[in-house]
Amino acid sequence: MDHKIYLDSAATTQMDESVFQAMIPYLRDEYGNPSSIYDLGVDSAEALARARRQIAGVLACDPSSIYFTSGGTESDNWALIGTAQLCRENGRDIITSKLEHHAILHTCQYLESRGYDVTYLDVDELGIIKIEQLIKALRTDTILVSIMAANNEIGTLEPIQQIGKILRGHSAFFHTDAVQAFGQIPIHPRELGIDLLSASGHKFHGPKGCGFLYMRENLMLPSFLHGGKQENGRRAGTENVASIVGMGIAAELCAKKMFMVSEKKRKLRDYMIRRIENEIPYTHLNGSRKQRLPGNVNLSFQYINGETAVLMLDEEGICCSSGSACTSGQTEPSHVLESIGLDPDTAKGTLRFTLGERTTREEIDYTVEKIKKVVKDLRGANKSLSAKVIERE
Ligand SMILES: *Cc1c(COP(=O)(O)O)cnc(C)c1O
Repeated sequence: MDHKIYLDSAATTQMDESVFQAMIPYLRDEYGNPSSIYDLGVDSAEALARARRQIAGVLACDPSSIYFTSGGTESDNWALIGTAQLCRENGRDIITSKLEHHAILHTCQYLESRGYDVTYLDVDELGIIKIEQLIKALRTDTILVSIMAANNEIGTLEPIQQIGKILRGHSAFFHTDAVQAFGQIPIHPRELGIDLLSASGHKFHGPKGCGFLYMRENLMLPSFLHGGKQENGRRAGTENVASIVGMGIAAELCAKKMFMVSEKKRKLRDYMIRRIENEIPYTHLNGSRKQRLPGNVNLSFQYINGETAVLMLDEEGICCSSGSACTSGQTEPSHVLESIGLDPDTAKGTLRFTLGERTTREEIDYTVEKIKKVVKDLRGANKSLSAKVIERE
């Protein structure tokens, strides 16, 4: 291939050209502070208002429910810590799941250190939370349930609608980390009973360092950043105007193309999974076949090291991820793969490919051929393992 094949859209996405073009004026000539009352400032304030309307349009909510942040991590922190502060008098019980993003899990650990009680729900072997366990875990003093809309590693879609229904009769807030889901699948928080929702621009072809938190009307989380009166007095600091403008355009574009793009990605996803399952032995799909993000392919290959495979595929011009995270120099299998019951060795042989709207069938065919080669080489390199493979074949 004469170009890089980018199959890591769950890590980040390339900015759309029209997003980039829309941002340029606000990086150069339209540099007014949105809080200033002269024209240059008012123009910036109007640009923010437009972006807020664009995002609200995608969520079918009121623009006043959208608060701009620095990204998914800040939105998640604000939703959790803000709720904990707001509801301190009502209870200290929080429910989340074992396969959340670290932006949720590490914030929950922080809250535990501050005296909050966190229940981490189990998931089944497909990575779907157990609804009965949620119902059992709900207490009168539960203040928050935070369950992601879609998982970033295995692409599993969580039963958000069902959770929303269960929580309608309960005082606990419902937060969802929709960083992976926003722009990929339709989500209307008001219809679904969602009180708080996090999203991040760079996961849907917008710029990095820019996201938002949706807050249901009449829900007033305390400010997270203290200072000026920006964002209705709830999130201080001069707004990142250019990025917010870009994120607004990106949101609108995603929504417009959602049906077409997701159909295309689903077809390519299933084609890729089918080919790998048929052509590479000792391989299995992680996550649900049906309840799955359109572009997610996550597979475990027995007897290989995923990190090595990622580097070898990079040599072939392919960008993808492995099922482990390198923390402090040591490779730890991901908590998501652990939560669905994979043993550490299988988890370490896991690769994630996340398709983008521009991914082609030729790229998938090329990638599958390279995966076959890399997996074969890695299995062959480990003679004792390859003996095991041959023995079983
Ligand atoms: C990427 C991601 C985040 C963090 O978003 P940033 O904007 O990179 O801080 C949070 N949750 C999920 C599910 C993600 O995929």
